[in-house]
Amino acid sequence: MSTALSGEADAAQRRALIGACRDLQRLGLTHGTSGNVSVRRDATSFFVSPTGLPYESLEPQDIPLLTLDGLWYGRRRPSSEWRFHRDILAARPEAGAIVHAHPRHATALACTGRGIPAFHYMVAVAGGVDIRCAPYHTFGSQALSDAALAALTDRRACLLAHHGIIALGADLQGALNLAAEVENLAAQYATALAIGGLEVLGEAEMRRVVEKFRTYGRQDAADADLTHGGQSLPPVR
Ligand code: 13P
Ligand code: ZN
Repeated sequence: MSTALSGEADAAQRRALIGACRDLQRLGLTHGTSGNVSVRRDATSFFVSPTGLPYESLEPQDIPLLTLDGLWYGRRRPSSEWRFHRDILAARPEAGAIVHAHPRHATALACTGRGIPAFHYMVAVAGGVDIRCAPYHTFGSQALSDAALAALTDRRACLLAHHGIIALGADLQGALNLAAEVENLAAQYATALAIGGLEVLGEAEMRRVVEKFRTYGRQDAADADLTHGGQSLPPVR
């Protein structure tokens, strides 16, 4: 395979990945060259942000292509975290994109080794009753990838101790949205901890919320108590 862009679909994915990297910075979710982003290309390959390059300088040709068996193509070296991007994309077929960042509140919480318990029902957006914190391992290591994958069991997001967060999405926008929500939850949790008297929701309630999230926001989702809508117009005044 040549290092030139091989087609319009690849170029579009590379441009979208650069857009997501810049969004991470614009949203204040990461600083400098910390964090990285990947997007699935097909069953055996993915694009990942290059290591150590300022996001504002990126051009489509700077985005490396990797195969799930570890081959790398491109003019730039892939993110030092290519292992966890590869391992998550290989293990989680529902994930189309992965965002890793070092946002202020979630990272501060992860520096205490704590995850986010069910202090707020929105914790269920990550897929379960809590958002776990993976134990610390050196950045870029296979041990970090293994720990992250374990913390992501039945979840779409996790914290990484003394490091940051990982969020999965069906696509780049979904992964970014979840990363932003994890940071929001971490900030709320830290504030609630500071106020004191925090209580967590029970497992049964969180399971109910996880279930409701399966259809939340879908315009075609039925609500038996809403009897009007759809085609009917409101009464004229
Ligand atoms: P890269 O620049 O290699 O992607 O590393 C940033 C980072 O956050 C490492 O964990
Ligand atoms: Zn990192």
